[in-house]
Amino acid sequence: MKTIRTVAEMREYVAQARRADRTVGLVPTMGAFHAGHHSLMRAARERCDEVVVWLFVNPRQFNEESDLAAYPRDEARDAAEAAELGVDVLFAPSVDEVYPPGFATSVHVDGLSDVLEGAVRGVSHFTGVCTVVTKMLNMVTPDVAFFGQKDAQQVAVLRRMVRDLNLPVELAVMPTVREPDGLALSSRNARLEPADRERAVALSRGLRAAEAAVADGERDSSAIAAAARTAMAGVDPEYVALVDPDSFELVHNVNGRVLVAVAARIGDTRLIDNTVIHTAATPDGAPTT
Ligand code: AMP
Repeated sequence: MKTIRTVAEMREYVAQARRADRTVGLVPTMGAFHAGHHSLMRAARERCDEVVVWLFVNPRQFNEESDLAAYPRDEARDAAEAAELGVDVLFAPSVDEVYPPGFATSVHVDGLSDVLEGAVRGVSHFTGVCTVVTKMLNMVTPDVAFFGQKDAQQVAVLRRMVRDLNLPVELAVMPTVREPDGLALSSRNARLEPADRERAVALSRGLRAAEAAVADGERDSSAIAAAARTAMAGVDPEYVALVDPDSFELVHNVNGRVLVAVAARIGDTRLIDNTVIHTAATPDGAPTT
């Protein structure tokens, strides 16, 4: 596996691949790899001739200095894991390479970026994500970019951005990888104290309770959210929201697909999780049994 640090070298690598008619898959990450990242790399390895992993802790998407400072970094370990999974290139540019002096442009998706994660972390969060992803797509020009459903709102924002800007890339979204007890894998889990690690399972427990409520025939979003909150006893969620998976508009009565999104602070660590629930859509929204 080759490690590339500059945009010029990355472009040259991709130009050679294109001349050889090879497809390029890109896996964007902020490092500190876990099985969630591995699943994206495996999916890319299966589908594409060349697999590029982007490793960049993007300062522009952090709303808290302390979160950025504490973000886990271990490039040597990440490189060994990526090589083991058959990745061809680790593209790990410096902050100056990505944001040279005088950098002044940003990409913002209205509306979708302002709710839930955007409301809690500030609008600059998704602007930071969209700006860096646009740059990264322009640097690598992949055929397919792989993302995790774990960050459901990020997926919705990026899908809209790719559509609105006619970016020539396919987004492939892979399912959330979980610990045996249900906790969604996250680079931030490493920061949980043992007692907090036990409490953290509350997020997925809340989602399973929401799924169970819907399976029992409940269609009222407030009642479903209340069931999730009850199952999350012991943590104080920042939000439990039922939204349309594409527009992120609030859903009041479940009829068709709904995304249940939760966020909670466990100790000093902010965690998010979600599930998509499918019900048979009926014209008047009445439950089908
Ligand atoms: P990050 O390094 O946290 O920015 O994540 C890089 C990519 O991995 C994003 O597309 C995430 O959605 C995805 N990802 C993070 N955690 C998981 C997980 N538990 N399962 C699947 N994908 C994940």
